[in-house]
Amino acid sequence: MTASPTDLGNFIGGSLAASKSPGFGDVFNPSSGEVIARVPFSTALDVDDAVANAREAFSAWGEAPAPRRAGILFRYKELLEAHFPELTRLVTLENGKTLAESEGDVRRGIEVVEFACGAAHLLKGESLPQISKEIDACSTREPLGVCAGITPFNFPAMVPMWMFPLAVACGNTFVLKPSEKVPQTAMRFAGLFLEAGGPPGVLNVVNGGREVVERLCTHPDIAAVSFVGSSHVAERVYQLGCQHGKRVQAAGGAKNVMVVMPDANPDSTLRAIMGAAFGCAGQRCMAGSIVLGIGEAAAGITKRLREAVGAMKVLPTDTCPESEMGPVIDAAARDRLLASIAAAESEGARIAADGRSRTLPDRGFFVGPTLLDGVTPDMNVASAELFGPVLSIGCPENLDDAIEWIHASGYGNGAVIFTQNGAAARKFVREAACGMIGVNVGVPAPMAVFSFSGWNKSFYGDLHVQGSEGISFYTRQKV
Ligand code: NAD
Repeated sequence: MTASPTDLGNFIGGSLAASKSPGFGDVFNPSSGEVIARVPFSTALDVDDAVANAREAFSAWGEAPAPRRAGILFRYKELLEAHFPELTRLVTLENGKTLAESEGDVRRGIEVVEFACGAAHLLKGESLPQISKEIDACSTREPLGVCAGITPFNFPAMVPMWMFPLAVACGNTFVLKPSEKVPQTAMRFAGLFLEAGGPPGVLNVVNGGREVVERLCTHPDIAAVSFVGSSHVAERVYQLGCQHGKRVQAAGGAKNVMVVMPDANPDSTLRAIMGAAFGCAGQRCMAGSIVLGIGEAAAGITKRLREAVGAMKVLPTDTCPESEMGPVIDAAARDRLLASIAAAESEGARIAADGRSRTLPDRGFFVGPTLLDGVTPDMNVASAELFGPVLSIGCPENLDDAIEWIHASGYGNGAVIFTQNGAAARKFVREAACGMIGVNVGVPAPMAVFSFSGWNKSFYGDLHVQGSEGISFYTRQKV
């Protein structure tokens, strides 16, 4: 343990504020297992303070001309660029992903800020003169008021950025509750927003857990709640927020399938599968979790994957720049994954590469990359989200059966196909009931101009984050 981990507070009304709660939780460096900070488990009263500040700030911010708001976001983008190395190191320190993965995390977030800088174009209303005799009609887009965001541990930079830059570009003020496992990146984002000229109270951060989330979902002065995390919490947040009259968008978990057709390019497909399955130690909502080889593609796929997995450098990410895969987020995640591998084995899956027996760093929360072969649709491991470096391998008869596998889990985030056959690709794109589809792409995560479009129990709500749906979510129309 470090000598004195920093005690974090909240960021309310443009200043650091101590939480009213005496309770703290530990924030770890997952690469070493050391405690690097302590995060307050704030109370409903802390939320009330943040919402009061956000509400007061809204009266001026909601009236500020859209180009003035964009001007502040332009300066914010410049500051994020200037602090890029510091921010990426911070993401690696508290999340454990490699520096290259942290760069991707922060970069995707900055791209949303860039999109938000141009929000004025999307905030324009519509008009139709003479819609009826001597009657002209026009519509405008108005901000909602105070909006809230609740985010997961796995993208400390990108996921908060899916929310607050668009919300404030539209004239709303914001209260962010980051994951208690990675609170420092969000606190830094709030400080930089103030430095960019963001008025106090426009962006607030309240750290904590369930009590904070429940107050955000029920507070009478919050108009809208954005949530990203696991499906069971997403569903609960959606129901609670809706019961309290709020607009809610709640993105949940996933079980993403990768289908390999016999004509797929072997080398680029292998690279894409490895990146999708083991990038960010498998802790991505778009992680490829099952690979399904069809016909001849099934032969040899396990051997090739086993060789690639065996060659991976699994090392601490804070001290070893050559690390290709870092730790999982905490000891509980590691233990849950080890138990899931054992459970899959007892269901009949074969362990083709065993992350449990591999030599791993002796500190931190590491799980070696693992391959489960011979997985069938009736096994729990075929439909449960594992959220770690464990890839299942199955062999359905044909493309129709593979598409059935995708639907069986009930999730609907992403699905990808590797093929050079246009008809197979088109059939897959049309028939796979998922919100994000890739053809010869391992991780079909949309960039900021498109919405992040999960379906089924991967998303609760109507309007997704990012893109034009994000603008619609954070505004209401007046005609
Ligand atoms: P999580 O659901 O445990 O936590 C998400 C947020 O909810 C955190 O801020 C946490 O403090 C809060 N929370 C947790 N339990 C709660 C409860 N009982 N009541 C109220 N609030 C609660 O998720 P996580 O472990 O941080 O993140 C991993 C999950 O997020 C995975 O399921 C992953 O697929 C999902 N995810 C989804 C997307 C997407 O776009 N669909 C993106 C990233 C992550």
